[in-house]
Amino acid sequence: MDYDTYESNAVELAVDLANTGRDVPGWDETFLTAHEDWFTPGTSLHAEGRDVARLAALADLVRSLAAADDQASAMRGLNDLLGLARPRPYATDHDGELHLHYAREDAGLLEQVTTTVAMGLSQLVVQHGWQRLGICSAETCDDVYVDTSRNASRRYCSNTCASRSTVAAYRARRRT
Ligand SMILES: [Zn+2]
Ligand SMILES: [Zn+2]
Repeated sequence: MDYDTYESNAVELAVDLANTGRDVPGWDETFLTAHEDWFTPGTSLHAEGRDVARLAALADLVRSLAAADDQASAMRGLNDLLGLARPRPYATDHDGELHLHYAREDAGLLEQVTTTVAMGLSQLVVQHGWQRLGICSAETCDDVYVDTSRNASRRYCSNTCASRSTVAAYRARRRT
C-alpha cells in the first residue's frame, strides 16, 4: 500500500474544504480556485447565495466524519455525505495522469464538489479505515488531517502541532 497516495487526490480536496477558515470573505472562491483541476473546464467557480451555505454545510459534514470516534458514527457520517453525492465517474488524463473524476461532467459546481468530497472520503474510509481521518489534538488547532502513518497512530495534523504539544506537556509537567 502506498501511504503517500492518500493525500493527493479527492481526499486532499475534502480535507482542505474542512480546514478552510470561513470568516474570511471569499473563502469559498479561494478554496474552489485552489482545486480548480477537479472541475470541468468552464464550470463557474463562483458560488452564489445558497451554494455558499451548502458548501459550508458540506465542510461541516467532513468535520463530523473526521470527529467520529467509533465505526458506527463514522458510517453515519459517511452515509450523510454519500446521500448528497450524485456519482457518475469517468476516467480522464487532463493533467497527464490517468485518474477518476466522480461527478457528471456537466454537473453544476456544488454537485461536482459534493460528489468529489463524498467519493474521495468514502474510498479512504472503506479501504483504509475510519481511524485514518482525525481532528488535530493540539490545544490551539482543530484541523482535519489524514493519518498516513504506518500504524495509524497520529494525533496531530502536522509535526508543528505535535512538537508544540510535546513542549506544552513538558512545561505543564515541570510546573506541577
Ligand atoms: Zn482531475
Ligand atoms: Zn494541528
